[in-house]
Amino acid sequence: MALLEVDSISVSFGGIKALTEVSLKVEEGQMVGLIGPNGAGKSTTISVISGLRNPNAGKVVFDNRNMLKAGVHRRVEYGMTRTFQRLELWDSMSVYDNVRTAAEFAARSRTDFDPKQAAEEAISELGLGDVVEYSTSQLPTGTARLVEVARALASRPKLMLLDEPSAGLDSTESERLGHVLAAVVRRGVSILLVEHHIDMVFQHCQQVFVLDFGRLIADGDPQAVQNDENVRAAYLGGHHGATV
Ligand code: ADP
Ligand code: MG
Repeated sequence: MALLEVDSISVSFGGIKALTEVSLKVEEGQMVGLIGPNGAGKSTTISVISGLRNPNAGKVVFDNRNMLKAGVHRRVEYGMTRTFQRLELWDSMSVYDNVRTAAEFAARSRTDFDPKQAAEEAISELGLGDVVEYSTSQLPTGTARLVEVARALASRPKLMLLDEPSAGLDSTESERLGHVLAAVVRRGVSILLVEHHIDMVFQHCQQVFVLDFGRLIADGDPQAVQNDENVRAAYLGGHHGATV
């Protein structure tokens, strides 16, 4: 069984169907991309997986456990962590304390890691050693994004759900982030990557799922998805800037 199985989830906001019977999988040790035009339902999918929002129908199975009744904190305990499209750092704290606090929080319900060590490794892996003393409000967006990924990593997750981690990064920084994430995956952490920069997705993901108007319109390896007629039509449809 895959590490994460999202099985036919639907979400409505009032009359709007944000997601209709969406299914996807993340196998252990994979980086999987989730792409689609603005408003396609990517962030909503991440919120359902992480437990922030209940689906109207469907189920999420993580590490062989049905997540139906598991809240956000329980899911972190099981090894799932997320970042947000809008930065959600603790601005009054230093970079180090942001990362360390996330590690301490996760370690409260787990005995399999030392939070200090986890925080330091995450800081080093994201190349943040030079800015540990800065408060996150002083950082350029690009660096703040990296802190958010470091914070997610410091909870020693099995699966990271990343919602547009390269937003606000320039192309060099995005490129670097892609390689950092690939290295994280190589040492066994799985990633579900929502990205506007689809080059990063096609370069690093083994599988890609494509949403449009809340429905899954394609999935497969990067090559197959790039050549998919429906994907091309969705991206060239006019209401958004990205191209495949
Ligand atoms: P994406 O992340 O792909 O841009 P979202 O998941 O944010 O898309 O949004 C999917 C759809 O659900 C959009 O039509 C959006 O306007 C709607 N939506 C998202 N969150 C809410 C909410 N809290 N209340 C009402 N509608 C929402
Ligand atoms: Mg979004």
